[in-house]
Amino acid sequence: MELLLATGNTHKAQELRDMLSELPVTVFTPDEVGGLPEVIEDGTTFGENAAKKASSAALHTGRWSLADDSGLCVDALGGAPGIHSARYGGTHGDDQGNNHKLLKELAQVPDDKRNAAFVCALALARPNGEIETVLEGRTEGRILNQPEGEGGFGYDPLFQFTEPNLVQTNRCFASLTSTEKSAVSHRGRALRALGHELFAILERSP
Ligand code: IMP
Repeated sequence: MELLLATGNTHKAQELRDMLSELPVTVFTPDEVGGLPEVIEDGTTFGENAAKKASSAALHTGRWSLADDSGLCVDALGGAPGIHSARYGGTHGDDQGNNHKLLKELAQVPDDKRNAAFVCALALARPNGEIETVLEGRTEGRILNQPEGEGGFGYDPLFQFTEPNLVQTNRCFASLTSTEKSAVSHRGRALRALGHELFAILERSP
């Protein structure tokens, strides 16, 4: 099966590519198919935006397409930045600006009230643009008072994983290797659920 990763975010594409390497799929990025049209992300949920991106890419290229919409939901901020995570600080994709704003907004919030979750919706579209499935993954943590670690991207340096009894517990996402992160991340969880569906699709295919 050939699958187009409908994302312009190179970090996300790399994470998806690594995780998909265990499945019987050949992966393409937008650059490898001559680019994709801009999609206006005006959905009200991660799932709606992921579906819009996957469907648009499939219609444009005639290929099975997988899109991710993801972000950080902070309890003390009523779920913000949520679907606006990529442009929270004002400029789309400015990780430093986003993290700076997050720390500012939480400056007065005590340690025991800094709970947050990463959420990822993955949408798989058929070559005709129809949505085959939308799956969600979620990971619980809390927001640190200052950045930690050298790896990852986006809000990873401020996100401490808190789910109990796992080797990654209490570690910052930016301190994990990509394998350690994928094992518990919102994207890894959504993708493992998708893996089961991909096998079912392949079995149904002639
Ligand atoms: P999207 O491209 O509209 O889905 O924006 C996703 C944004 O959420 C990214 O720009 C990051 O700021 C944030 N984000 C999503 N997944 C992660 C992750 O795994 N680590 C850190 N930040 C993430």
